[in-house]
Amino acid sequence: MGESFDIVIRGAKLRGEDAGLRDIAVADGRIARIAPAIDGKGAQEIDAAGGLVTESFVNTHLHLCKVWTLDMMHEGALQAYHGGSMGKAMSAIEQAAVVKENYDAAWITENARRAVALAALHGNLHIRALADVDSKAKLEGVKALIAVREEFRGIVDVQVVAFAQDGIIREPGTTELMEAAMEMGADVVGGIPWIEFTDADAAEHVRICFDLARKFDADVSMLLDDAGDPGLRTLEMMAKEAIARGWEGRALGHHCRAMCLYPDPYFGRLAGLLKKARVPIVSDPHTGPLHARVKDLLEEGVLVSLGQDDISDAYYPFGRNNMLEVVFLAAHLLWMTTREEVSRLYDMVTVDAAKSMNVDGFELAEGAPAHLVVLAEPDVMEAVRNHAAPRAVVSHGTLVDQDEMTRLAARPA
Ligand SMILES: [Zn+2]
Repeated sequence: MGESFDIVIRGAKLRGEDAGLRDIAVADGRIARIAPAIDGKGAQEIDAAGGLVTESFVNTHLHLCKVWTLDMMHEGALQAYHGGSMGKAMSAIEQAAVVKENYDAAWITENARRAVALAALHGNLHIRALADVDSKAKLEGVKALIAVREEFRGIVDVQVVAFAQDGIIREPGTTELMEAAMEMGADVVGGIPWIEFTDADAAEHVRICFDLARKFDADVSMLLDDAGDPGLRTLEMMAKEAIARGWEGRALGHHCRAMCLYPDPYFGRLAGLLKKARVPIVSDPHTGPLHARVKDLLEEGVLVSLGQDDISDAYYPFGRNNMLEVVFLAAHLLWMTTREEVSRLYDMVTVDAAKSMNVDGFELAEGAPAHLVVLAEPDVMEAVRNHAAPRAVVSHGTLVDQDEMTRLAARPA
């Protein structure tokens, strides 16, 4: 009689392995054993039937307080954000702010619950989720996302970002609201310095965020240079501040779309600074016509991940929290289509994304926390082709209840 485990996955194909299938045993929340054939029994047995088993998916950027709000406004913001080479991105953010006049934790919680249940169904088990904090949204978004974080604890790990979407200097009272959000239990300090009216204000915005990060011992996430303006330099500002504060490896740069307009010599210097500050970049090439220079960043050795960014809001009309779908879109938009490049993209929604948001011990290895997806397809290329939901998802060593998640993800009648 062999050992007993919580779960045994039989006949799994692992990434990069040419020969043979593996069994994976899970016990006490962790991967207990990986071997060609595990003697013993799981309380739950899953037949992977030669399907690919990997680490679960990670989403480093999601505006979770705004999901499903597109129906609540007209589509002017979408046009402003995407049109004219993103020259009017700031106006889009101002138009999108209209929805916040009706911000209420009750409906935001319901919307966010649907989106996180969709994430669970798609094996997307770690999310860095931004909640707007400003004079209109107040703390309603933060309240809602903290409630949803607690509701999904053990299934989907949500990092709540207290995010100053409408600016700090141009939006008086935001610093105090951000501080209150951190007191309430938000996990990450979120800024958007490029939206300020002057470079001096942008620098002050960055300093305020790092002051809060130090006070609450929190990581920083900032949306940077998110417009078609080659003069924007807030990524550089954030990286310099991270070094000055000893916050290397704790500040994440989002969007950085203006980077695609930078001259090469400046881009080269910037990449050097990012490595020194250990600032990773999240790109969401499907949510805007411009995007960070992902291939060049990878070549320079900068850590890069992909985010879902939006689900049916003023900036993007689609999205299902399906990171394989995000990879599928990115493969086209970035023209990364060889086996090696698609494999790289897969890292950018799994292991590299986990590193970018400081998720500890995230790997498919004995002893690591068991966050796994069992896919129907035998390899990464086929998985990305179909971008279908996994056949089974294991979170914290427990099988995700797909019927329950399907129920929670359903659009209310
Ligand atoms: Zn965004």
